Order: sequence, then structure tokens, then C-alpha cells
Amino acid sequence: MTDKKSVRASMHIDVWVECPNCESDINLRDEADTNGHNHDEECGVLMQACPNGEHWSEAHQNFSVKGVVCTQCKHEFNVEGLDW
Ligand SMILES: [Zn+2]
Repeated sequence: MTDKKSVRASMHIDVWVECPNCESDINLRDEADTNGHNHDEECGVLMQACPNGEHWSEAHQNFSVKGVVCTQCKHEFNVEGLDW
């Protein structure tokens, strides 16, 4: 019998949008992409993306992050809805 080792898995969750002004790819969970704003803290990006006790497909219709500012061009926009 071989002695098999176990390892832990790790999951990385990024939530991407494209700037409607300059088409930069923006990770809503990375302050470096959102002009220094922590949208996870303000809007619960992760909690909205991975909701507790709700069907994801239904919850994602209501996914909303307001006032995202693009680091590249400083354009401000809202995010409505989440595809995955
Ligand atoms: Zn931009």
C-alpha cells in the first residue's frame, strides 16, 4: 500500500470588467486597477460573486458595483450584472 500525501488546493477569484472608455482590463478585486479603491470592502465584490444561500445565476443578475474608476484613464462607470 502506498502512502499518499494530501495537499491543500487554493482558489483565486478575480472579477474582470473592461473599461467602457479605454478598454483596459480591470480586476474589481485589485486596487491597482480601480484607482486605489477597495471595492471588495465598499461593495462586497466577493460576497456578491459568491453569495451564501442564493442561486448564483439569480444573484448575478443583481451584481452591482458603483463608481468604478479606471486607473488607466480615470473614467468612472458602474458595473451591472455578472457573467461566468
Ligand atoms: Zn479606462
